[in-house]
Parts: sequence; C-alpha cells; structure tokens
Amino acid sequence: MAHPVTLTDILAAEARIRAHIRHTPMLADPLLPGVMLKQEYRQETGAFKLRGATNAVLSLPPQALATGVVTASTGNHGRALAHAARAAGGRAVICLSHLVPPNKVQAVRDLGAEVRIIGQSQDEAMVEVARAVAEEGLTEVPPFDHPAVVAGQGTLGLELLADCPTATTVLVPLSGGGLAAGIAAAIKARAPRCRVIGISMERGAAMAASLTAGHPVEVTELSTLADSLGGGIGLANAVTFAMCRALLDDVVLVTEDEIAAAMRHIQAATGDTVEGAAAVGHAAILAGRVSFGPGTICILSGRNVAPETFARVMEGLAQ
Ligand SMILES: *Cc1c(COP(=O)(O)O)cnc(C)c1O
Repeated sequence: MAHPVTLTDILAAEARIRAHIRHTPMLADPLLPGVMLKQEYRQETGAFKLRGATNAVLSLPPQALATGVVTASTGNHGRALAHAARAAGGRAVICLSHLVPPNKVQAVRDLGAEVRIIGQSQDEAMVEVARAVAEEGLTEVPPFDHPAVVAGQGTLGLELLADCPTATTVLVPLSGGGLAAGIAAAIKARAPRCRVIGISMERGAAMAASLTAGHPVEVTELSTLADSLGGGIGLANAVTFAMCRALLDDVVLVTEDEIAAAMRHIQAATGDTVEGAAAVGHAAILAGRVSFGPGTICILSGRNVAPETFARVMEGLAQ
C-alpha cells in the first residue's frame, strides 16, 4: 500500500521550504570513530520541527494562513509553528494550559504568536484548538500526524544523504513519529539498505508500545530528560503509526542515566548543549544497545533544555 507521504512529497517539501530553513552541519564525532552528528539543533528555533511546520504553513492557501494556524504544543512544535507563520506573513495561535511555565509562554509570544492559556491540562488546551477550528476557521497544524508535517521532516533525510551518501545506519529520536516516518520514507526510497532505527526513552514511549501492540495505545506520561519525546501518538493516528511500522528497521529504548551520559558526551564532543531528546541515539550507542560503525548517523534533534536541567546533568545526575 502506498504511504501517505512518499519521496515525491518530500522532494516537493524540500523545494518549498529550502529558502526558509538552514542546511545544518554534519560533524564526525571526535570521540566515537565512524559516528556522524547531524547538528539539527542548530536549526532556527533550536529544533528540526521548523521543517514540518514551514512545509505545512507554505502548503496552505493564503486566506487560510491569514485567518491563522493553531496548535496546542508547548514545546518545539509550538515555537516552530509560530516562527513559520510569522515568516510567511500569517497568524499563529498557540493554546497552552496553565501548567506551562511562564518562560515557555513568553518564548512563544516572543516569536509573534498569539497565546491562549486555557485550563489545567494539555487535553483542555486541545479542546480550545478544536473550538478555534470549528468556530473561528483556524487551521490546525498538529505536531506530527499530518502528511505535510511528515514530508517537511523528511527533508532532513534527503539532507543527511546529501551530507553522507554512504550512510549505513540512521538513529532517529522517536516520539509521535513524524521525524522517523519522514526520514525513513526519504532514506528507504533513496538508500534502501541504510537502516533507520527509532530511539525512545524507557519512561513513557508511546510509539514503541503501540508498535508492540500492533495498534496505537496510550501510555502513562512520565517525567524524563527526553521531555520532547513525551506524549501519546493519538488513538486515531492516521499517518505516522503505519509508516513507522512499515519503514523502521528497529526501535530501541534507553534509560535516564544513559540519556544523561549521552548529553555529557555530546557536550564534550561538540562544546554544545543539546536537550535529552537529541541525545538518545548516542545513549543507545554508548550503552551498547545498537551496533554502530562507519556511516552511523545520530540526529541531534534539538537544543531546548532548561539551563537548570542541563546543569544537573553536567553534575552527573540523571534527574
Ligand atoms: C518533537 C521532537 C522529537 C520527536 O519527533 P516526533 O516527530 O514527534 O517523533 C525529537 N526531538 C526533538 C528535539 C523534538 O522536538
């Protein structure tokens, strides 16, 4: 069966977003021979999510963009959508709950988005998204389960192969699966023998549990250093679950201590700060959970970590 996102869609996304996103550097890991680091945390807004959000925004008719796009994301997707909408001259509305810390709220406002603070949970913020779509005609751009978002994330797969045509294994941080589905669609079309492995944290890995069950399931959300990998995949998942099931070679889980060690490793290797979600590929390598060698690429997906959290990790603590 044809997937909802194919190489053709990803090539179209690449042409659409090229002028709006950075081609991020690829670096040989000086501490792990054979391993390459894709420094996607150097993307504007600090994470790859700008690719999918920009593709979704630029795929909309001008009238829809002027009326506005909406999401309930508290993290990298919300920032990316705010940035992408502003860059395209459109309006973005980000719905957040009262639980979201003030610095995160301000960061979204600073990107020019209208912030609505509603209720005490992500679910209540989602209700406001549905209301804004139904009553105000806004267009929802979800964080992962949307063909244009997946196609945008897939441009990272094309970029990886351009940077390193001999890639043998790509380790992809895995949450809702937009990144992994997009990258795997690009890589399996262009370099079918290259392995694509999704990596999640042990604490609350919804896609991994769903793949094991054979259908989307809910998991309890737990606190984790890889907070950008938290949250569910949606019981009515329409795009990413089936693509991850068909296209990923394997899914590997890592512990909090392994993520912390990997964040320290990446700091030593690059001098840069990355968030826990970005370090899971290294966590799997350093813990011996995946085989690696020449042509192994780790996607360092984002850098948005609270300074207190990063400082604690540097001191050797996982929590
Ligand atoms: C969103 C995100 C991921 C996971 O992406 P999915 O498409 O939800 O699987 C990984 N790393 C970072 C930094 C993210 O923001």
